[in-house]
Amino acid sequence: MSEECTHDCSTCAANCASREEGKQSKESFRQECNPSSNVKKVIAVVSGKGGVGKSMVTSLLAAAMRRRGKAVAIMDADITGPSIPKAFGVSERAAGIEEGIIPASTRTGISVMSMNLLLDDPTDPVVWRGPIIGGVVQQFWKEVYWGDVDYMFVDMPPGTGDVPLTVFQSLPVNGIVIVTSPQELVSLVVEKALKMAELMEIPVLGIVENMSYFECPDCGKKHFIYGRSRLEELAGSHHISVTARLPIDASIARASDAGDIEAVETNMLDEILTAIENA
Ligand code: ADP
Repeated sequence: MSEECTHDCSTCAANCASREEGKQSKESFRQECNPSSNVKKVIAVVSGKGGVGKSMVTSLLAAAMRRRGKAVAIMDADITGPSIPKAFGVSERAAGIEEGIIPASTRTGISVMSMNLLLDDPTDPVVWRGPIIGGVVQQFWKEVYWGDVDYMFVDMPPGTGDVPLTVFQSLPVNGIVIVTSPQELVSLVVEKALKMAELMEIPVLGIVENMSYFECPDCGKKHFIYGRSRLEELAGSHHISVTARLPIDASIARASDAGDIEAVETNMLDEILTAIENA
């Protein structure tokens, strides 16, 4: 127990005696989702640092799951750096009805809720402290009229701070997909995200190494620009059997910039999708 312990386990991830004695089980922080909604599985997409392609992988997973004929939603919990609406070309403001806030719908019918759909100007910064941001994420869960959803993907803010903790404690997260990059694997920052998942007792369904290599469009040779990958080593040491590698691909970045991420089809995430279906 640290000296600063407030005995409020909802604001702390430490696995200390106070948590045990208080008998504050995980369930005690759970929030019910909107009564008109039925979300069957919640999958959190996390990363150790920003800029590794977490939102990109969230978008590709959601689009691919939709192609498998499932009802899919994305909650953009990256409140201060929301990038989901842009990748899907969604710019309409979210509307409200009696049952709650109506999420936006993408071209293929994925429901999306993001801070950017609530701002007057999507370039306005969100200058709020952690607890307020955590409250917004809870509101996205409780007050958005999600309807019937087979898989909700939560694009988490990077790191292991306040907001990821709020999501893990308030939402019934079935599994986590970790997104990392070769550099992040070397720096070991991603291990913090992995260990947080273990601490929260949420299964890690797979690890995606994004920007893993570059495939020459002329000769087809794969160039591992950042050197030998540590992906299998890390996955092995945490007993994670499902991994995927995505190349540096300018066409994916262009599709995302153009709001056309649903047009990108790749089979490289198939094993991760199957792990999500079996979660
Ligand atoms: P994060 O959510 O981790 O902050 P993003 O998904 O927003 O990262 O990606 C950061 C930037 O990198 C974006 O401009 C995105 O288009 C680009 N990007 C991500 N993955 C790839 C990739 N595999 N190939 C090329 N560009 C990529």
